[in-house]
Amino acid sequence: MAKFLEYQGKEFFKQSKIPIPEGIVASTPEEAKAAAKKLARPVMVKAQVHAGGRGKAGGVKFADTPDEAEARAREILGMDIKGLEVKQVLVEEQLDIVQEFYVGIIINSAQEVRGPVLMFSPDGGMDIESVSSDRISTLNVDVVKGLMPYDTLNMAASMGVAGKPLRQVADIIFKLFKMFQKLDCRTLEINPLVLTADGRVIAADCRMAVDDQALFRHPEMGIKIGREFLKEPTEFDLIGWSFEASDFRGTSYVAEMTPPEVVAKGGYVGYHGIGGGAAMIGMDALNKVGLKIADYADTSGNPTASKVYRTTKLILSQPGIDAYFLAGFMMANQEQWHHAHGLVKALREELPKKPGFPAVLLLCGNKEKESQEILKEGLADLDARIEIYDRERVYDATFIAGRVKALVDEYKKDQSVSQGDN
Ligand code: GDP
Ligand code: MN
Repeated sequence: MAKFLEYQGKEFFKQSKIPIPEGIVASTPEEAKAAAKKLARPVMVKAQVHAGGRGKAGGVKFADTPDEAEARAREILGMDIKGLEVKQVLVEEQLDIVQEFYVGIIINSAQEVRGPVLMFSPDGGMDIESVSSDRISTLNVDVVKGLMPYDTLNMAASMGVAGKPLRQVADIIFKLFKMFQKLDCRTLEINPLVLTADGRVIAADCRMAVDDQALFRHPEMGIKIGREFLKEPTEFDLIGWSFEASDFRGTSYVAEMTPPEVVAKGGYVGYHGIGGGAAMIGMDALNKVGLKIADYADTSGNPTASKVYRTTKLILSQPGIDAYFLAGFMMANQEQWHHAHGLVKALREELPKKPGFPAVLLLCGNKEKESQEILKEGLADLDARIEIYDRERVYDATFIAGRVKALVDEYKKDQSVSQGDN
């Protein structure tokens, strides 16, 4: 899912006419100070990371003066929240909170629902999971009939919201649902939606994630890679994503793990897993023999030969890698001959550029016999250190990683000898 940071989500709130606090994003303590000065009132300094529970982690702090804002930003920037480094803070008008509500919409894909579920609770500010169910009103929205303004009025009223805030709260829930639909969200949440001492109802937080398959409808969002991708994509990553963006048959996941200048130091393998679990088995085994992965790749979910071909080509294009390793540590039920065809084509094109290059392939599962034939016939005449394994070795990651290591050592030795000759 394409996730958005709080401040990005709040921009979409603004467009949907959902009230938000005034705020400015800052990347340095000095910028935070300037932002607080500009807002000219007490502020909150809030860590911008793709994680909830920032408050508890110390990533949301009060600051009554610009100097305090600078100091709080200095504490929060660079902080680690749930494994994510804080690189930006949102400096925002401090709200005088009288009550916190929760409003959220998710897609429930369970057979009996299969649609958006709207939730409202008068006990906002904490995890919705820890709110008792009688304090949450939920509504499975009929997407054909749509949501009516009285639905959200009833919802808020049923949870005890009354008087002037009732209409404001109901109106915001309604607008939130419209925004959810318009932007093809999977999740859209305001926690807390707050009632302030001066009678305003304002979205104090935002969690937003958009359906990857709908991103093509939203170029304005500027999402380069339509899947959870928490770093700035490199050229390698973008090429990998292009295989997916244009073809949804099966999955190919490719991401750079190590910058090329580090790969160039040696000991890195062009890595190609089949299935996430299998890929982890292979990585662990490689690490145990002292090798590391240059990239992470996974072709599974019955991908086409062309997808496997493109992925393999990309993996092999990494300068400085010492081997190619296909870690098919699973009896896959996808028809593996698509893999075999894609691999043969890619390896036949790339390996002649790298004489003696190690390529270790483990491929088993459905159509294994045919796949093995395709690999063995297709790669027989190449000048490379190719070893091909089948189900006999599927439980033997230690052995296979040992073979990768042995071939890498031979290959490096050859290279140093030939360099010595020059
Ligand atoms: P989260 O912990 O990642 O969900 O971050 P939130 O943005 O929800 O902030 C955590 C908590 O800080 C909220 O539930 C509020 O109780 C509190 N908080 C956030 N903004 C303000 C504010 O402007 N004024 C006050 N008094 N509390 C705030
Ligand atoms: Mn929150």
